Amino acid sequence: MNDTVKYLLDEPRIPKSWYNLMADLPSPPPPVLHPATHEPVGPDDLAPLFPMSLIAQEVATERAVEIPAPVREIYKLWRPTPLYRARRLEKALDTPARIYYKYEGASPAGSHKPNTAVAQAFYNKEAGVKRITTETGAGQWGSALAFAGALFGIEVQVFMVRVSWDQKPYRRAFMETYGARCVPSPSNETASGRAVLAKDAQHPGSLGIAISEAVEVAAGREDTKYALGSVLNHVLLHQTVIGQEALAQFEIADDYPDVIVGCTGGGSNFSGIVFPFLGIELRGGRKVRVVAIEPAACPSLTRGKYAYDYGDTAHLTPLAKMYTLGSAFTPPGFHAGGLRYHGMAPLVSHLKELALIEARAYHQTKCFDAGVQFARAEGILPAPEANHAVLGAIEEALKCKEEGVSRAILFNLCGHGHFDMQAYIDYFAGRLVDQNYDEGELAMALAGLPSVRAA
Ligand SMILES: *Cc1c(COP(=O)(O)O)cnc(C)c1O
Repeated sequence: MNDTVKYLLDEPRIPKSWYNLMADLPSPPPPVLHPATHEPVGPDDLAPLFPMSLIAQEVATERAVEIPAPVREIYKLWRPTPLYRARRLEKALDTPARIYYKYEGASPAGSHKPNTAVAQAFYNKEAGVKRITTETGAGQWGSALAFAGALFGIEVQVFMVRVSWDQKPYRRAFMETYGARCVPSPSNETASGRAVLAKDAQHPGSLGIAISEAVEVAAGREDTKYALGSVLNHVLLHQTVIGQEALAQFEIADDYPDVIVGCTGGGSNFSGIVFPFLGIELRGGRKVRVVAIEPAACPSLTRGKYAYDYGDTAHLTPLAKMYTLGSAFTPPGFHAGGLRYHGMAPLVSHLKELALIEARAYHQTKCFDAGVQFARAEGILPAPEANHAVLGAIEEALKCKEEGVSRAILFNLCGHGHFDMQAYIDYFAGRLVDQNYDEGELAMALAGLPSVRAA
């Protein structure tokens, strides 16, 4: 084996179908409920927001969902993504562990998000949709959807959280290059945006508010739908190309992961790499330890409550049972913008309830220490979100060293950090602060959870 091994698969090894974990779960996750009636939502409730094909995937139970040929054709622009053996990092850590990482930063938008953006744009195009609205926090999802919209000739309108809009002009220019229209959120273009601005004209915005705005616009227009970049079942489904490729690549490498580590914001990149391996375990095959890493400043899996909650601030979305900090929760400032969501994907939350996965929370400074160590050993500069996974993998590798055992550790390097250099500038200047969330604010947000009968 070379020093750095890049297991590239030939083209036919790009998966032909997405893997649906629903088929192998010992019990299904609780149903999603209508926000007004608290009855399970039906396809018609979601029809104003999503094309029927995606709604069908939201509740699909078959194990394999075919990837449409045009989507697979576009995947070939960057898939399969490489699986690397981190030999130099292993050496730097002086660990007997075998560390592998799947590099999703190889996509045109620089993260795993185009895996679902392209699929969602395809199904919307097929349904005759002219415009897609969405929200973006750090800008990764907006960039991915803007890229996908350009390929399928669909207009994309992105509500970008105001602080990111101010701090990340390059992200906005990136989206505009693909032809998307960006609006800082809260904005004057929606009732939910105007309501927030009326109370605070300088409001920095939040993902929850931006979702409300994007949903409001889509619900009010016949030719417009909404797209979400994480959390929902169909998004997690599309991401499973990551883990399926990794399985094939491990076969070529003649190895198998003992531990898989991923960072979790809404849970999609984590699910993408983990679900195919968990499926094997659930079907009676080889077991794998799975560790989700989240930011200590927004710790839904480790400090949240498993309860029904809204996906957005204005409570326009259905209720999903998930680990949540409360839809009113606003995390303190930290640099991993993609990990600032108040809830966790219902499917990932369900796995935590079933004790099929573990979760840990880290503060950002330690994550950047790990990211810089990784960049100096392996050459790739990770996104601040990905730094959480890097640290998780390093901790597992150091545990191997302590115990004197060699285990295979796989982590998802979900994106590069080339648009996040201000975060690195702040890190090197010693300006990163590890802020704890406000306990009082969390208690208040949790007290505001909707009461749902028999939940
Ligand atoms: C969006 C994003 C995340 C968080 O979203 P998940 O759905 O949890 O994957 C993490 N890393 C990167 C690079 C992202 O762009």
